[in-house]
Amino acid sequence: MFKPGIKDQITLGKRAAAQVRKEEKVLKETDPRAIEVKHIGEGLLAHIPADERKKKPFEYSFEVIDSKDLNAFALPGGPIFIYSGLLDKLDTKDQIAGVISHELTHIRNEHWASAYADNQKRRLGLLVILSVLNANETAFNIASVSDALVFELPYSRKHEAEADKVGFELDTASGYNPQGMVDVFEVLKKAGGGGRTTEWISDHPALDSRIQKIQDRIKKEGKSYPNQVPRTR
Ligand SMILES: [Zn+2]
Repeated sequence: MFKPGIKDQITLGKRAAAQVRKEEKVLKETDPRAIEVKHIGEGLLAHIPADERKKKPFEYSFEVIDSKDLNAFALPGGPIFIYSGLLDKLDTKDQIAGVISHELTHIRNEHWASAYADNQKRRLGLLVILSVLNANETAFNIASVSDALVFELPYSRKHEAEADKVGFELDTASGYNPQGMVDVFEVLKKAGGGGRTTEWISDHPALDSRIQKIQDRIKKEGKSYPNQVPRTR
Protein backbone atom coordinates (compact mmCIF):
# COMPACT_ATOMS: atom_id res chain seq x y z
CA MET A 1 0.00 0.00 0.00
CA PHE A 2 2.79 2.45 0.87
CA LYS A 3 5.59 0.70 -0.94
CA PRO A 4 6.97 2.67 -3.88
CA GLY A 5 7.00 0.66 -7.11
CA ILE A 6 10.02 -0.06 -9.32
CA LYS A 7 9.53 3.05 -11.45
CA ASP A 8 9.05 5.28 -8.42
CA GLN A 9 12.23 3.89 -6.88
CA ILE A 10 14.16 4.65 -10.07
CA THR A 11 12.80 8.21 -10.20
CA LEU A 12 13.59 8.87 -6.53
CA GLY A 13 17.09 7.40 -6.82
CA LYS A 14 17.87 9.50 -9.86
CA ARG A 15 16.67 12.64 -8.14
CA ALA A 16 18.79 11.94 -5.06
CA ALA A 17 21.82 10.98 -7.18
CA ALA A 18 21.61 14.31 -9.01
CA GLN A 19 21.68 15.97 -5.60
CA VAL A 20 24.80 14.00 -4.62
CA ARG A 21 26.56 15.00 -7.85
CA LYS A 22 25.72 18.63 -7.15
CA GLU A 23 26.82 18.66 -3.53
CA GLU A 24 29.78 16.30 -3.50
CA LYS A 25 32.89 16.03 -5.61
CA VAL A 26 32.20 12.97 -7.73
CA LEU A 27 35.22 11.63 -9.60
CA LYS A 28 35.17 11.96 -13.39
CA GLU A 29 34.34 8.85 -15.42
CA THR A 30 37.91 8.84 -16.72
CA ASP A 31 39.50 8.69 -13.27
CA PRO A 32 41.20 5.28 -12.84
CA ARG A 33 39.38 4.69 -9.55
CA ALA A 34 36.01 5.46 -11.14
CA ILE A 35 36.84 3.11 -14.02
CA GLU A 36 37.84 0.31 -11.65
CA VAL A 37 34.69 0.60 -9.52
CA LYS A 38 32.42 0.74 -12.57
CA HIS A 39 34.15 -2.26 -14.11
CA ILE A 40 33.74 -4.36 -10.96
CA GLY A 41 30.13 -3.23 -10.58
CA GLU A 42 29.22 -4.14 -14.13
CA GLY A 43 30.95 -7.49 -13.78
CA LEU A 44 28.74 -8.26 -10.78
CA LEU A 45 25.61 -7.15 -12.66
CA ALA A 46 26.36 -9.74 -15.34
CA HIS A 47 25.79 -12.44 -12.71
CA ILE A 48 22.33 -11.26 -11.66
CA PRO A 49 19.77 -13.63 -13.22
CA ALA A 50 18.31 -12.29 -16.47
CA ASP A 51 14.71 -12.81 -15.37
CA GLU A 52 15.34 -10.65 -12.30
CA ARG A 53 16.85 -7.89 -14.47
CA LYS A 54 13.78 -8.07 -16.67
CA LYS A 55 11.31 -8.01 -13.81
CA LYS A 56 13.17 -5.24 -11.98
CA PRO A 57 14.76 -3.01 -14.63
CA PHE A 58 16.76 -0.94 -12.16
CA GLU A 59 19.20 1.51 -13.70
CA TYR A 60 22.40 0.66 -11.87
CA SER A 61 25.35 3.06 -11.78
CA PHE A 62 28.65 3.05 -9.89
CA GLU A 63 30.45 6.25 -8.89
CA VAL A 64 33.16 7.44 -6.52
CA ILE A 65 32.82 10.44 -4.19
CA ASP A 66 36.11 12.18 -3.52
CA SER A 67 36.04 12.37 0.28
CA LYS A 68 37.98 11.05 3.27
CA ASP A 69 34.89 9.34 4.67
CA LEU A 70 34.88 5.55 4.96
CA ASN A 71 31.50 4.82 3.51
CA ALA A 72 29.43 3.67 0.56
CA PHE A 73 25.70 3.75 -0.08
CA ALA A 74 23.00 2.71 -2.49
CA LEU A 75 20.06 4.81 -3.58
CA PRO A 76 16.75 3.21 -4.51
CA GLY A 77 16.46 2.19 -8.14
CA GLY A 78 20.14 1.80 -8.97
CA PRO A 79 22.76 4.45 -8.09
CA ILE A 80 25.68 3.31 -5.94
CA PHE A 81 28.34 5.64 -4.52
CA ILE A 82 31.55 4.67 -2.78
CA TYR A 83 33.77 7.19 -1.01
CA SER A 84 37.41 7.43 -2.03
CA GLY A 85 38.31 7.32 1.69
CA LEU A 86 37.05 3.75 1.88
CA LEU A 87 38.23 2.82 -1.60
CA ASP A 88 41.80 3.94 -0.86
CA LYS A 89 41.96 1.55 2.10
CA LEU A 90 41.01 -1.45 -0.01
CA ASP A 91 43.83 -3.51 -1.52
CA THR A 92 42.00 -6.07 -3.64
CA LYS A 93 39.27 -6.18 -6.24
CA ASP A 94 37.51 -8.76 -4.06
CA GLN A 95 37.20 -6.20 -1.27
CA ILE A 96 35.65 -3.66 -3.63
CA ALA A 97 33.31 -6.36 -4.94
CA GLY A 98 32.35 -7.12 -1.33
CA VAL A 99 31.18 -3.55 -0.79
CA ILE A 100 29.39 -3.27 -4.13
CA SER A 101 27.61 -6.64 -3.95
CA HIS A 102 26.27 -5.68 -0.52
CA GLU A 103 25.00 -2.34 -1.85
CA LEU A 104 23.54 -4.01 -4.93
CA THR A 105 21.42 -6.23 -2.69
CA HIS A 106 19.83 -3.21 -1.02
CA ILE A 107 18.67 -2.11 -4.48
CA ARG A 108 17.76 -5.55 -5.89
CA ASN A 109 15.68 -6.47 -2.85
CA GLU A 110 14.10 -3.00 -2.59
CA HIS A 111 15.18 -2.44 0.99
CA TRP A 112 14.65 1.31 0.91
CA ALA A 113 11.08 0.90 -0.38
CA SER A 114 10.31 -1.59 2.42
CA ALA A 115 11.86 0.69 5.03
CA TYR A 116 9.79 3.57 3.66
CA ALA A 117 6.59 1.55 3.84
CA ASP A 118 7.31 0.48 7.43
CA ASN A 119 8.11 4.05 8.36
CA GLN A 120 4.81 5.29 6.94
CA LYS A 121 2.83 2.62 8.74
CA ARG A 122 4.48 3.46 12.04
CA ARG A 123 3.95 7.14 11.49
CA LEU A 124 0.27 6.85 10.74
CA GLY A 125 -0.54 4.01 13.07
CA LEU A 126 -2.21 0.89 11.83
CA LEU A 127 -5.58 1.74 13.38
CA VAL A 128 -5.76 5.02 11.53
CA ILE A 129 -4.88 3.30 8.32
CA LEU A 130 -7.63 0.76 8.72
CA SER A 131 -10.38 3.06 9.85
CA VAL A 132 -9.91 6.53 8.43
CA LEU A 133 -7.81 6.76 5.33
CA ASN A 134 -9.21 6.16 1.91
CA ALA A 135 -7.26 4.61 -0.94
CA ASN A 136 -6.11 7.97 -2.23
CA GLU A 137 -4.43 8.92 0.99
CA THR A 138 -2.46 5.70 1.23
CA ALA A 139 -1.22 5.82 -2.36
CA PHE A 140 2.46 6.54 -2.80
CA ASN A 141 3.27 10.10 -3.73
CA ILE A 142 6.81 10.80 -4.95
CA ALA A 143 6.62 14.53 -4.34
CA SER A 144 6.03 13.90 -0.64
CA VAL A 145 9.34 12.06 -0.25
CA SER A 146 12.29 14.31 0.59
CA ASP A 147 15.84 13.52 -0.50
CA ALA A 148 16.75 13.49 3.20
CA LEU A 149 14.40 10.56 3.69
CA VAL A 150 16.03 8.78 0.76
CA PHE A 151 19.48 9.24 2.35
CA GLU A 152 18.70 8.81 6.01
CA LEU A 153 16.09 6.09 6.36
CA PRO A 154 18.08 3.35 8.09
CA TYR A 155 18.00 -0.24 6.94
CA SER A 156 16.95 -2.84 9.49
CA ARG A 157 19.35 -5.49 10.81
CA LYS A 158 17.37 -7.99 8.80
CA HIS A 159 18.11 -6.03 5.62
CA GLU A 160 21.80 -5.76 6.49
CA ALA A 161 22.00 -9.50 7.11
CA GLU A 162 20.26 -10.15 3.82
CA ALA A 163 22.62 -7.78 1.98
CA ASP A 164 25.60 -9.66 3.44
CA LYS A 165 24.13 -13.03 2.47
CA VAL A 166 22.95 -12.22 -1.05
CA GLY A 167 26.10 -10.15 -1.59
CA PHE A 168 28.17 -13.20 -0.61
CA GLU A 169 26.30 -15.30 -3.18
CA LEU A 170 26.78 -12.73 -5.94
CA ASP A 171 30.47 -12.35 -5.05
CA THR A 172 31.21 -16.05 -5.23
CA ALA A 173 29.08 -16.55 -8.37
CA SER A 174 31.17 -13.79 -9.97
CA GLY A 175 34.46 -15.47 -9.08
CA TYR A 176 35.44 -13.30 -6.12
CA ASN A 177 36.79 -14.48 -2.80
CA PRO A 178 34.29 -13.66 0.01
CA GLN A 179 37.19 -13.09 2.39
CA GLY A 180 37.30 -9.67 0.72
CA MET A 181 34.09 -8.80 2.54
CA VAL A 182 35.58 -9.80 5.90
CA ASP A 183 38.60 -7.61 5.14
CA VAL A 184 36.31 -4.62 4.56
CA PHE A 185 34.71 -5.07 7.97
CA GLU A 186 38.17 -5.27 9.54
CA VAL A 187 39.11 -1.99 7.84
CA LEU A 188 35.95 -0.39 9.22
CA LYS A 189 36.60 -1.73 12.71
CA LYS A 190 39.94 0.04 12.79
CA ALA A 191 38.76 3.49 11.79
CA GLY A 192 36.36 5.88 10.26
CA GLY A 193 32.86 6.08 9.01
CA GLY A 194 31.03 9.23 8.05
CA GLY A 195 29.41 10.63 4.97
CA ARG A 196 25.78 10.94 4.02
CA THR A 197 24.56 7.68 5.49
CA THR A 198 25.25 5.45 8.46
CA GLU A 199 25.62 2.49 6.11
CA TRP A 200 29.23 1.50 6.97
CA ILE A 201 29.84 2.78 10.48
CA SER A 202 32.88 1.56 12.37
CA ASP A 203 31.41 1.40 15.84
CA HIS A 204 28.46 -0.73 14.85
CA PRO A 205 28.15 -3.45 17.51
CA ALA A 206 27.04 -5.95 14.88
CA LEU A 207 30.32 -5.81 12.93
CA ASP A 208 31.89 -8.74 14.77
CA SER A 209 28.83 -10.91 14.37
CA ARG A 210 28.62 -10.04 10.67
CA ILE A 211 32.26 -11.07 10.24
CA GLN A 212 31.53 -14.28 12.12
CA LYS A 213 28.57 -15.08 9.88
CA ILE A 214 30.63 -14.71 6.71
CA GLN A 215 33.41 -16.86 8.13
CA ASP A 216 30.88 -19.52 9.16
CA ARG A 217 29.44 -19.51 5.66
CA ILE A 218 32.90 -19.88 4.09
CA LYS A 219 33.57 -22.84 6.37
CA LYS A 220 30.17 -24.43 5.80
CA GLU A 221 30.44 -24.24 2.01
CA GLY A 222 33.87 -25.85 2.22
CA LYS A 223 34.83 -24.57 -1.23
CA SER A 224 38.17 -23.18 -2.19
CA TYR A 225 37.92 -19.70 -3.61
CA PRO A 226 40.36 -18.06 -5.99
CA ASN A 227 43.05 -15.90 -4.41
CA GLN A 228 42.10 -12.28 -4.02
CA VAL A 229 43.21 -10.14 -6.94
CA PRO A 230 45.31 -7.09 -6.04
CA ARG A 231 44.10 -3.76 -7.36
CA THR A 232 45.83 -2.21 -10.32
CA ARG A 233 47.47 0.94 -8.99
ZN1 LIG B 1 23.96 -2.23 4.06
